[in-house]
Amino acid sequence: MRTCWLNGAFLPEDQAHVSIFDRGVLFGDGVYEVAAVVNGRLLDADRHLARLERSQRELQLPAPRSSAEWLPIMQELATVNGIDEGLVYLQVTRGAAERDFAFPSAPTPTAFAFARPKRLTDDPNASGIRVHVVPDLRWQRCDIKSVAMLAQVLAKQAARQAGAFEAMMHEDGLVTEGGSSNLWIVRDGVAYTRPLSNDILAGITRDVVLELAHGAGIPVRERAFTVEQACAADECFLSSATSFVLPITRIDDAIVGGGVPGPVTQRLRDGYVARARSLTQPA
Ligand code: PMP
Repeated sequence: MRTCWLNGAFLPEDQAHVSIFDRGVLFGDGVYEVAAVVNGRLLDADRHLARLERSQRELQLPAPRSSAEWLPIMQELATVNGIDEGLVYLQVTRGAAERDFAFPSAPTPTAFAFARPKRLTDDPNASGIRVHVVPDLRWQRCDIKSVAMLAQVLAKQAARQAGAFEAMMHEDGLVTEGGSSNLWIVRDGVAYTRPLSNDILAGITRDVVLELAHGAGIPVRERAFTVEQACAADECFLSSATSFVLPITRIDDAIVGGGVPGPVTQRLRDGYVARARSLTQPA
């Protein structure tokens, strides 16, 4: 059985329980992070934890642990569960209190974390995935990594029912992001991704891909693009901590770039995998 972590203790998963009065359960009043594990070691956990701190601040959520305290807990979860490649999930909520929309006066946050194996460096989806276009039904603070995600649940369910791996969300025809990923297109050798704002999550992988593109001499413009432009692009791909870089070869019924991963996407994926391997290399 899997070992999880809850409020300071490592526990078997069937003993890790939270209250029905937890504000995460009642209101989705909490934040989370997901970091990849490669070679049994956390990847870019410092960046994920910095974003967690920001999400907590934006929601005035008292932080139950500092980033420095989270790191060994997350690493231990990967280790005790024997995760070579996978992810560690971490969630902080405003805790249990009598049900009232406004914050309780002295909240005790609930925090928990678990790990899960997943194929990352040899992801079978690296040959190309399909996305399904849906309107972005979310609120106006998508920059906060909140656990309130009903719009993404519906978007990803619609994608699954359409036989697609991920949703491509748009607002008035302009692509915002994927259900749980940032989206990119490539045209005439230039990569485009939406600029950071309250409309999207500042993906850690998006940031790393920007750095990799810069290092590889691939020009990038942080500029919004339309669904139509994505369908007509030379290449399209997504980025996320647990998918790395995945080629998008179909947008609903439109075939992108001849239906095979393009050269820029391939270089960025290869570069991402190489960086992940080197950062997590066993000593
Ligand atoms: N956008 C959304 C809405 C997401 O849920 C995620 C996954 N956390 C991302 C983008 C990608 O972010 P990251 O690269 O940090 O995983």
